[in-house]
Amino acid sequence: MTQVKKFWPILTGIHKYEKTLSTRNIGHGQIIEAPILAYLMETSNGRILYDVGCDYEKINDLQKRHHFYENDEFPFGPPTMTEEQKMENRLRQLGLQPLDIDTVFVGHLHFDHGGGLCDMKHAEVHVHSKEYEAANQPADGAYFAEDFTGDYHWRFQDDEYDLVPGIRAIETPGHTAGHMSMLIELPKGKPILLAGDAADLTENIEQEIAPGLCWHDKEDLALASIRKLKNIAKETEACLWPNHDMSFYRQCTPFPGFYE
Ligand SMILES: [Zn+2]
Repeated sequence: MTQVKKFWPILTGIHKYEKTLSTRNIGHGQIIEAPILAYLMETSNGRILYDVGCDYEKINDLQKRHHFYENDEFPFGPPTMTEEQKMENRLRQLGLQPLDIDTVFVGHLHFDHGGGLCDMKHAEVHVHSKEYEAANQPADGAYFAEDFTGDYHWRFQDDEYDLVPGIRAIETPGHTAGHMSMLIELPKGKPILLAGDAADLTENIEQEIAPGLCWHDKEDLALASIRKLKNIAKETEACLWPNHDMSFYRQCTPFPGFYE
């Protein structure tokens, strides 16, 4: 039986960029507004976060912002992240603080997913070993080495596994080398399958379109992961959630409301 009690999608920031970053070769000249999300799960065996959003300081400190975001890798500039969207303040709204998070599971280590690790030095941090390896090369310009160097309680993973009964890590490489999605069984409602950046938009899922950025340009690997997620969703009757889709996000239960 699932140990999950409650599930919250948490908006941690917004990024505007050309749609081609989400849908490979589709959407040139079209700027979209994408939510940057983290997901909190309360279980009978601790609290787990899937992703942690961006590092607030790298966006809101002018010098850091210039260093990290005002260069050729970021033609669309940095995301926005309000005071309210800071993880610490989101958790406060639930009567929690960062120390109350036991486990952080990072689907991949790009700046908009692993940036907030700096506030989670106490927690166990789960990441695929291939992801950590690629991030350290770095495989592309969306990795900020400063996000994941330092003292972390890493728990490197090489396979699919259950974090607790009811929460399963699923390998979905393609966007990045060691990308992981997550299947969450709720106590009452239908399961939720978090695609992570294996599928930014509903369009990626429905029309089977690879993300703009594919590790080593392996579009086939990314497409295989999208099909894998669709199959799992079908078998488990889960709702497959895209990760950077504003219209999908707007239909979700608004924070601090939750799913159970
Ligand atoms: Zn992302």
